[in-house]
Amino acid sequence: SRAEDKDMTLQELLTPLIRDLQAAGTDAPALEARLLAGHVLRLDRIGLMLAIPAPVAEDAAAAIRGLTARRCTGEPLAHITGRREFFGRDFEVSPQTLIPRPETELLLEIVLRECAGPGEVRFADLGTGTGCIGITLALELPHSRGLLLEYSAGALPVAARNIRSLHAADRLALVRGDMFMPPLMPRGLDVLVSNPPYIAAAEEGEVMAEVLRHEPHSALFSGQDGLRHLRAVIRAGRQALKPGGLIVMEHGYRQGGAVRRLLAEAGYRAPRTEQDLAGLDRCTWA
Ligand code: GLN
Repeated sequence: SRAEDKDMTLQELLTPLIRDLQAAGTDAPALEARLLAGHVLRLDRIGLMLAIPAPVAEDAAAAIRGLTARRCTGEPLAHITGRREFFGRDFEVSPQTLIPRPETELLLEIVLRECAGPGEVRFADLGTGTGCIGITLALELPHSRGLLLEYSAGALPVAARNIRSLHAADRLALVRGDMFMPPLMPRGLDVLVSNPPYIAAAEEGEVMAEVLRHEPHSALFSGQDGLRHLRAVIRAGRQALKPGGLIVMEHGYRQGGAVRRLLAEAGYRAPRTEQDLAGLDRCTWA
């Protein structure tokens, strides 16, 4: 290796890469460059801060440049690192799962607020994907037990590894199943949660190109009106929830009224919609 490479610090490596990410129009160039470097160097945030003035080995520098180039083509950061943080925990993701979104933390906040108290909570998470919702519930509600249902054969092993790596296996059952086939549902549940696919076929044009190109369409789209899966969740809740049980669903920002109406028609009491951090209707519960 050449002498000047030996002297290149992480700072010197990252500066032009941040410019590349910026030019490619990524969301948070400096943060993303650091996350990619941390992934290659196996360093957490603090370790990375300490490494900023230190020299970087040439092979590591090449790897960081390679991953940054992939990011510049629009590949999601979570696919490059295979990880995404959700509710303060680190989840494995893959191109076979939806990448957990920060908006979805609202759903968790609603359940945790409405289920405060020492009692046992039995819940199901329909369409669990990475397992981010169900696993978070199991870990945040100390006396809970949950069923995580997922139809995609590609997502199931990812959810299974997340359950194991986050030490939730003693309280969760992961089942391959179809939310349109309610016989699989348990009875007498306290809570039913779901962030199902909810984009209408006709709204494909509104979805970001990066999402369309890289995330599973089966996790995004739900029939002509975008409500096909939400209807199935509402139906499943009628069979699975105990009287007075709680249903919480995430949905599109224009679907609050429709979901409240579907809930009321199905006999749920007092449906209510709440807004995400962007101020958009995002979750409805009853
Ligand atoms: N429940 C998972 C999540 O919220 C998967 C959602 C989906 O694939 N639509 O990330």
